[in-house]
Amino acid sequence: MVTEEIHLNDYLQSIGVESVETDLGEYIQQLDGEAPYHIVTPAMHKSKEDVAKLFAEKLGTDPKATPEQLTLTARDILREKYVQAQVGVTGANFIVSDVGGIAVTENEGNARLSCAWPDTHIVIAGIEKVIPSIADLGLFWPLLATFGTGQQVTVYNSLVTGPRQPGETDGPTDMYVILLDNGRTEILADERQRESLYCIRCGACLNACPIYKNIGGHAYGATYSGPIGSVITPHLKGMDEYKHLSFASSLCGNCTEVCAVKINLHELLLENRYASVRAGQSELLEKIAWRAWKQAMLFRPALNLATGKMKNWFVNKVVTGWTAQRGELHFPEKTFNQRWKEKYGDR
Ligand code: SF4
Repeated sequence: MVTEEIHLNDYLQSIGVESVETDLGEYIQQLDGEAPYHIVTPAMHKSKEDVAKLFAEKLGTDPKATPEQLTLTARDILREKYVQAQVGVTGANFIVSDVGGIAVTENEGNARLSCAWPDTHIVIAGIEKVIPSIADLGLFWPLLATFGTGQQVTVYNSLVTGPRQPGETDGPTDMYVILLDNGRTEILADERQRESLYCIRCGACLNACPIYKNIGGHAYGATYSGPIGSVITPHLKGMDEYKHLSFASSLCGNCTEVCAVKINLHELLLENRYASVRAGQSELLEKIAWRAWKQAMLFRPALNLATGKMKNWFVNKVVTGWTAQRGELHFPEKTFNQRWKEKYGDR
């Protein structure tokens, strides 16, 4: 995901370097020219028939091929790429500081092959991936597996501490680790938002989110989708352009409830809303509407001036932004004060 974040593939292709995704889901998405749909399962929105059709179009396979046949086709193609590639690029699920290694957890073995076959191995990982000790993997590896894919532990778990050493026969001759900031130190400096850097990218909050389940990953228009994407994207890519993600939430709190590392996601969405309002990024019409609402709420007689019909007309026909995506509002004909008076007199 971190290479998606910096659009590495696009850049490499623009300078004439062939760059091939090796995770099967990512490979499918790359063949289709689409961004990942989900941070753990990039092609989850495609059926096996969709993938068979895509492979038939792009790779000339049988349009009725089974998932096993499709997987074997991808495997054959990718094995050849590992042998030819000069550079293998991986991320790191964790960077383990006491042993100076990167920890990678996966189910397909593709990261392991990318580390081992090419002459040069480049690791790109966010600075938040650093954990203190190898002992911490005893917690974090199973935690990520359980919350990510429901496994007790994933199939391949690798700890890579450097390139090939004298006397060894396998591995790259060079290994580079690039620590990516890209806005993370600013999140770290923000006392309230800091906890979003705890994220281990398990994807559980996406799976639990009613918004994500309805609109899907691509609608976010960002690398990281779902609740965690809505929290961090405005900070990574600009509050003004991405603040709307934090507003597109029912704040039901499902994400917070399922989060593997207990990030207060729905409260951080609210924090983003406060931040954007404090930064003066609200629309003029919205500011006027809230000011009018405040004045009306502070002065009851003003609210009582309008009849129910007038209020209905105003909110449904004048403030059309409300009804564009929601049902009409219907105010009762009598005001609250009138109804109170009828029921309780002057009490
Ligand atoms: S915010 Fe929590 S639940 Fe969502 S991906 Fe990160 S660790 Fe997983």
